[in-house]
Amino acid sequence: METPKHPKGPTLRQFQARFPTEDACLEHLKLVRYGVKHTCAKCDREAKYYRVKARRSYECEHCGYQVYPTAGTPFHGTRTSLRDWFYVMFLFTSTRNGVAAKRVQREIGVTYKTAWRMCKLIRAYMGYVDGDPILGGGGIIVETDKTFIGGYDKQGEGDKKVVLGMVERDGNVVARHIPSRSGRFVIPEILKTVRKGAAINSDAARAFEALEIHGYVHHPYNSLKGERGGTSVIEGFWGMLKRGINGTYISVSQQHLQTYLNEFEFRYNLRHQPHTMFDRLLLSFPPR
Ligand SMILES: [Zn+2]
Repeated sequence: METPKHPKGPTLRQFQARFPTEDACLEHLKLVRYGVKHTCAKCDREAKYYRVKARRSYECEHCGYQVYPTAGTPFHGTRTSLRDWFYVMFLFTSTRNGVAAKRVQREIGVTYKTAWRMCKLIRAYMGYVDGDPILGGGGIIVETDKTFIGGYDKQGEGDKKVVLGMVERDGNVVARHIPSRSGRFVIPEILKTVRKGAAINSDAARAFEALEIHGYVHHPYNSLKGERGGTSVIEGFWGMLKRGINGTYISVSQQHLQTYLNEFEFRYNLRHQPHTMFDRLLLSFPPR
């Protein structure tokens, strides 16, 4: 069967049917983190684990050793229920434009501070899932471009924040918040992310001039002269990022911009497998 070009993730209704209760959430978390069976840390035997009543734990069928599926996750030690956490994570994996803390506050009835903290943590874990993919090689063209978030100055000065994007056509995107638009900051990020020798498309900005010296096959084009170059994919990502940041988050501080970029990267890079987003996010919590 052919995969549809824009597969859809689960609907809210499907999600709620899958996780109707606190116990269902805990059971799922246990399955994702430990599997159906795993070797007991205490008796060293392959064991099934059974739920301990009135606790958020499971015990080994042989020796009674207890494990807590929430240990080491953001869910541990918060008063927010797993159902609420799962719901907010669902929102993050199903939206296109991001999730405002105000919305979380309103929909699950927590304080703004709690809602903001939940969103911040989820974004951080989205960054861990996505990691730092390496782009290019094998004849794949990488598009790179800079964009500016916030502020007024078209040159990227003042309080505008500079973001460098790199994307493989049909592949992954990497977006990095950099201190300025100069080549001094642009080139090292490209060296870190794009395989040596890869073909790179960009505009004719000076910051990209050194790409050839660094062993890339560089195709600059001049947008002022109306040349149709090849950065339409990264421009599409900018469009999505800006709709999200301007429409949902309104303003984003220097300090937190990278975590917002990670959120949009996560969704973009998993766009062909939306059904896996939620579990990948759960799996990103560090092992105990
Ligand atoms: Zn055991």
